Amino acid sequence: MPTAAFSNLGCKVNQYETERMAESFEALGFTLTDFRQPADVYVINTCSVTADADRKSRQMARRAARQKDGAKVVLTGCFAQMALDTGEAVDGAALLVPNGDKMRTAAHVLAAFPELIQYTSSPANDQPAVFPESAPGGLISPESLVSRMGHRTRATLKIQDGCTYFCGFCSIPYTRNVMASRPFADVLTEARQMATVGTKEIVVTGVCVGAYGPSDGSGGEDLADVLVAVADIPSIERVRLSSVQPVEIPDKLIAAMATHPNIAPHLHLSLQSGDDTILKAMNRPYDTGFFAEIAGKLRGVMPRIGLTTDLIVGYPGETRELFENTLEFARKMQFARTHVFRYSPRQRTAAELLRDDVPYEEKERRHRELTAVCVATQEAFAAGDLGKTVDVLVEAKGAQEGWLSGYTGNYVRTQFAAPPHLRGRIVPVRLTEILPGGDAFGILED
Ligand code: SF4
Repeated sequence: MPTAAFSNLGCKVNQYETERMAESFEALGFTLTDFRQPADVYVINTCSVTADADRKSRQMARRAARQKDGAKVVLTGCFAQMALDTGEAVDGAALLVPNGDKMRTAAHVLAAFPELIQYTSSPANDQPAVFPESAPGGLISPESLVSRMGHRTRATLKIQDGCTYFCGFCSIPYTRNVMASRPFADVLTEARQMATVGTKEIVVTGVCVGAYGPSDGSGGEDLADVLVAVADIPSIERVRLSSVQPVEIPDKLIAAMATHPNIAPHLHLSLQSGDDTILKAMNRPYDTGFFAEIAGKLRGVMPRIGLTTDLIVGYPGETRELFENTLEFARKMQFARTHVFRYSPRQRTAAELLRDDVPYEEKERRHRELTAVCVATQEAFAAGDLGKTVDVLVEAKGAQEGWLSGYTGNYVRTQFAAPPHLRGRIVPVRLTEILPGGDAFGILED
C-alpha cells in the first residue's frame, strides 16, 4: 500500500486537523510513516502567521520533494490557501488543497493521483469540510484514534473554525473564512472517544473559539457549555481552553472556570500590544483598560489563574514611547507566560499597506527588552505557588537525567525527579524552587 507522511506547521487547530487528516488516509489504506522517511505522499499543513512561517512552509515543501523521487507533495493550511488565492507557484508542491476543504485532502490526493490507489468517488461537493467527516456508521472509530493518538495524554479538540475580526496584522480571516461551529453532539462524541484511549487532558480549540455557538442567536450550547460537558466526562481529569479573544469572556464562562474542578485555571488572552494607540491601529476590539478589567475579574474569582498572552513588537507606527507603554503594561499584568513576536507584514492585511517603519535592529532590541520583562513576570507568577503541592500532567522528559516535566493547571511548566512510568499521569508535586526562565522545580509526593 502507498505510504503517507504528515507534517504540522502552526497552531493547535492545525495540529488537530493534521491528526484527523492522517486518520482519513489510514482509513483509505495508506501506511503512515515518519516525515523524515521516504513516502509516496507528503502532506504539509502549513501556517502563514508570520513571514517566518511562510519561509518554513516553502522550505518543508522543497525538502519533502527531495526525499523521494516522484513523491506527491501536498500542501494545505493558511500558507497554501494564500498561495492559491495569490496564484503563487510553490516549489516542490504537486497539489494545493484549499483550507476550507482540508478534511477531504485524502480524496483530493486520490482524485489528482489515481495511480496511488484505485479510487472511484470524487472529492468535490458543495459543503466546506473544516471538521472531520463521519466514518461509516458513526464518527472516528476509537481503534483508529488509538492507532493515531498513541500515548498522547493531552489531546486537542477543534470545535470552531473561521474568524472575521480582521486584525490589521493577521491574514487568517482571508485564509480561514468559513465561520463554523461544530455540532455540540459531535464535539462530545469525539471527547468521549478521546477518553477511551486514555487522554487525561483535552485542549478545546478553534480559530476564534470564543465565537463558538449558533451565530443566529437561536440559543443552543456555547463555549462554557462545551467546557463543562467535556469536564464532566469520567476519566477526563482536565479541560484547558486555548487562545481566546479578550472580548469573548462572558460571565458564564468565568463562572464555569471558577467552579468546575476539572476546568484548568488558565486562559490564553491574546493582547498583542500594551498601548491603546497601537491596539486601535491593529483594529483590536478593546483597549488596555478593558483588558485589565477582564484580567481583574478573572483574578477576582481565581486568584491563581494563569493568564498567558501574545505580544507583537515593532508594529507600524510603534514609537519608542508607545513601546514603553507595552513594557509597562506587561509588567502590570504579570502574565504567567508570553509569546513575543516581531511584526512582519502579511499579504492582503490592512497593515501590509502601512510603512514598516520600525527598523529590524530596533525590533530585535524591543523583542529582547520585552522578553526580559515577560520572563521576570513568568518567574514571579510561578513563585506564587512555592511551597504548595500542585497537580502536574506528566508529558515529557525533564531538563536533566531522571527528571520528568509537565504543566500545572495554571500552566506552570514543572520539573521533578521521577520514574519514567509516570508519564501520562497527573501527579502531586510540592514546588520548592523557581528555575531561571520561569519553570518550577519540585518534589514528587505520589
Ligand atoms: S482574532 Fe485577529 S489575530 Fe485572531 S485569528 Fe482573528 S484576525 Fe487573526
